[in-house]
Amino acid sequence: MRELKSRVVRFCRDRGVDLIGFAPVERWDEADEVPPDFRPRALWPPAKTVIVLGLEMLLPIVETTPSVVHMELYKTANAELDQLAYDLARHLNRLGHASFFFPRDGYGSMRALRENNRAAFAHVPAAKYAGLGTIGASHNLLTAEFGPRVRFVSVFTSAEIPPDPMMGKELCIKCQACAKCCPKKAIRMRADRVVGDYDDQACLEMAEELVAQRCFPCGICTKVCPIGNDRTLYPQSGIMKKYLKETEALSGNSDDPEYKAWTHLRKYGVARGKKEGTGSRK
Ligand code: SF4
Ligand code: SF4
Repeated sequence: MRELKSRVVRFCRDRGVDLIGFAPVERWDEADEVPPDFRPRALWPPAKTVIVLGLEMLLPIVETTPSVVHMELYKTANAELDQLAYDLARHLNRLGHASFFFPRDGYGSMRALRENNRAAFAHVPAAKYAGLGTIGASHNLLTAEFGPRVRFVSVFTSAEIPPDPMMGKELCIKCQACAKCCPKKAIRMRADRVVGDYDDQACLEMAEELVAQRCFPCGICTKVCPIGNDRTLYPQSGIMKKYLKETEALSGNSDDPEYKAWTHLRKYGVARGKKEGTGSRK
């Protein structure tokens, strides 16, 4: 099965996948963090391995959130991930390994989320069990490559593929930037653990406001996280101070020159009128 693993990695890399990890389905049972009905074997009993694929969300675009350019990047990444997962599942089927995939977004509308704010399967723990990173205070999966600026999709297969080791060291440094910058104060740091308390209703409220303006999703907690080697590619001195002062600076002067490039992009293509439409969340 080592050969199959190399073939899968090559197939994905040739199609532009940024991150790929392999998790045996037993990891869900060993960790016992995800309720039994939401584990891969409950969703599709033949599953032996979950292959998690990740695509980068480009930092300079994430920094403009909430904006139409960020919304389009999010939609493009999600569509691309679903296509990649669909292609990989069919590739594995052709090799004789029955496969299934769970799409990137498991929500039909904001109303569906309001009624039941949970997906049938969560990619964040899947990515953790596949060795791609650790869960930070913000409940996002932090990766060494892109911090939380990455989207995931999961392919289940009946093939037993050698797993990747889970990451031993926490990547979150508990800097509190996500909690301080969240416009809805939905993240609260915990002294006794890395993963913070998360108010999903407050985050959903933000999502509903942004859907109404046609510039969903929020993602401010992914923008401000200092983790990720993408920050080396896009170096910016004093950036954490800039993030932390943004709300105050813009409430004093909405044309503050330091934030001009971001605020320019937020002004165009965004509805300011009454609520409309559907969407999904972080
Ligand atoms: S997506 Fe926005 S509202 Fe939700 S937790 Fe992150 S910063 Fe807060
Ligand atoms: S912003 Fe700081 S506290 Fe929040 S997830 Fe990233 S490293 Fe952890």
